[in-house]
Amino acid sequence: MRKSYAKKIDARATQLLRELKLMQVPIDVGAVASQLGAHVVFEDLDDDVSGFLLRDKSVMTIAINKDHHINRQRFTLAHECGHLHLHADKGDRLWLDKTYFFRDGSSSQGDQFAEIEANQFAAGLLMPEELIRASLSEGRSISDVDVVRLAMQFGVSERAMTFRLISLDLLDPVAA
Ligand SMILES: [Zn+2]
Repeated sequence: MRKSYAKKIDARATQLLRELKLMQVPIDVGAVASQLGAHVVFEDLDDDVSGFLLRDKSVMTIAINKDHHINRQRFTLAHECGHLHLHADKGDRLWLDKTYFFRDGSSSQGDQFAEIEANQFAAGLLMPEELIRASLSEGRSISDVDVVRLAMQFGVSERAMTFRLISLDLLDPVAA
């Protein structure tokens, strides 16, 4: 995904958080989902399934694998919010999110791009750039301790935070 397009998706996530008055860390992603009109359930799902969104007429159900780590559940929920907010034009359907989604070849190319969009939206929703910048001291390079602190503060994995900092050009990929 081109950087300029990623920024556009980030902007949509930020705009949504502002509209819903939920721009504070850790982002209340459950509140985002319910305000988008989804009914969220936490279920026993196959281990390789992170969650899914079922859009059936006006009824929208998001299921999250309750056995996964809480940070992962938050990311999955934010990802499903991405499908909800970005992909309404694709109509009634099931968005099934598997761990190895990209490897098993079961998805069409169009779907693969939608998955990348939903992941970008999730990162933008859980880790808004302005809130990350606000919790960093200016002019000082980011240390490992900062990454751990930010991950805890934002309720995401250290890995997700590291990727986010790199994509925002706040962290050097070589140093990470
Ligand atoms: Zn998805």
